[in-house]
Amino acid sequence: MRKLLLESFTGAPLTERPPDVDDGAVAELARALDRAARRRLGRSLTIRQVDAGSCNGCELEIHALNNAFYDVERFGIRFVASPRHADVLLVTGPVTKNMREALDRTHRATPDPKWVVAVGDCAVDGGVFAGSYAVVGGVSAVVPVDLHIPGCPPSPTALLKGLLALLETSASGGSNRSTKA
Ligand code: SF4
Repeated sequence: MRKLLLESFTGAPLTERPPDVDDGAVAELARALDRAARRRLGRSLTIRQVDAGSCNGCELEIHALNNAFYDVERFGIRFVASPRHADVLLVTGPVTKNMREALDRTHRATPDPKWVVAVGDCAVDGGVFAGSYAVVGGVSAVVPVDLHIPGCPPSPTALLKGLLALLETSASGGSNRSTKA
């Protein structure tokens, strides 16, 4: 026991090193996203995240956008609690049968203009859960998807790049166009 305690006090931490992310590049990306939102919507972007059956790996990366490291709220990009306040639905996971109706109702509760972004490989086509008896499939099996951001999970930087591409290229008022970031 004493040896174990000594090792834990003197040994190197067992956690992984944080990723090498260029803080300036992240800030510029978030600023560009805020500018695009103001051009498109006349105000900052609001996002409602929907976990439609994810393993929560994608959520960890999405949550990172709000941590002290990325802190995208300083650029006006906000996660909101209600779809009625959202411009973008950020949907993760294969859509489980239990979440199909909730996702559909959330989509209908979101006012136009709105965009749906399918985040992660599972949200694209079911990913590792494809074919499961509990899964409907990718997000587009339930609601129209405007953008797919692949990855398992995609990084916070990939999420910002995807949202920026969406606002810069999509038609005003939302669209049913499906693209990959
Ligand atoms: S894409 Fe990967 S991290 Fe995201 S929900 Fe699927 S298995 Fe989890």
